[in-house]
Amino acid sequence: LAVEEGHAFLRGRQVPLRDAHVNVMTHAFLFGTAVYEGIRGYAHPDTGQVYLFRLQDHFRRLLESCGVLRISLPYSVEDMCRLTTELVQVNGIREDCYVRPIAYKAGLQFGLRLADRDDLAIVAVPLERFHRDRTSLSVCVSSWRRVRDNAIPARAKINGAYVNSALAMTEALERGFDDAIFLTEDGYVSEGTGMNVFIVRGGRVCTPSVTDDILEGITRDTVIHLLERHMGIKVEARRINRTELYTAEEIFFCGTGMEVVSVGQVDGRTVGRGQSPLVDALRRRYFELVRGVAEECPAGWRTPVHGG
Ligand code: PMP
Repeated sequence: LAVEEGHAFLRGRQVPLRDAHVNVMTHAFLFGTAVYEGIRGYAHPDTGQVYLFRLQDHFRRLLESCGVLRISLPYSVEDMCRLTTELVQVNGIREDCYVRPIAYKAGLQFGLRLADRDDLAIVAVPLERFHRDRTSLSVCVSSWRRVRDNAIPARAKINGAYVNSALAMTEALERGFDDAIFLTEDGYVSEGTGMNVFIVRGGRVCTPSVTDDILEGITRDTVIHLLERHMGIKVEARRINRTELYTAEEIFFCGTGMEVVSVGQVDGRTVGRGQSPLVDALRRRYFELVRGVAEECPAGWRTPVHGG
């Protein structure tokens, strides 16, 4: 499927992607007043079935983000799950794919006040062109601080807040790193530009707590589930100091797009002894789970697209 040939969902119906336009006067375009989700679909290696991973959880979080931005949609979580599977079907997607629902302030106005008119757009495309297939990253601690809860809440996945991530990502790339880790305004480890962060210290696995200006990542939750339920490793959610990044045995990022990726260097310092046995094992389990190869999977985590 060429992106130009597919359909998108916009203003209550499926439209050809090439006609899926929004007006330049749209509040969301003028001010970034939209919230979104990034969802992955995985093709089963044998059956060709496509599973959307944690679809309901993504739409639950979208509705939470909508609440923060006072966006009200005429759709329930179940409606949006159905609209999404229908769109993937109509686009004839039988390979790995990426789904992006965007709930946005649709009024045409220069006024700042959060406008009354809201809309939902959904795009579903095959994945190849978005994929970054790397297993170990060299990252820096960003000179940019994470947006804080009382400014632009990181807990809500607000489009405009991604200016913060774009600044950090661009700085990191220009300085020769692959990506960046944000600190909070108070100087504690927060998260990556589009992913959550975990460290392993003294055999314990730690991750910033949900009050450290992070997005409450769905992959973060999946990873905690895999570590605690399947690998017998307890995860501590707590404040993490910058220097713990320099003294950790292993560090990894996780997110829908990034999946589970080891961080091999932080600010030019090799993490641990340069090996990542725990992350490698976790990564294997993660792929078995999302691809539908692992038998055990919590109810509702894998939504088949093509019936059955
Ligand atoms: N933090 C940020 C800033 C993100 O953009 C993302 C990607 N959505 C994540 C964390 C990871 O969230 P999830 O696992 O739900 O994709």
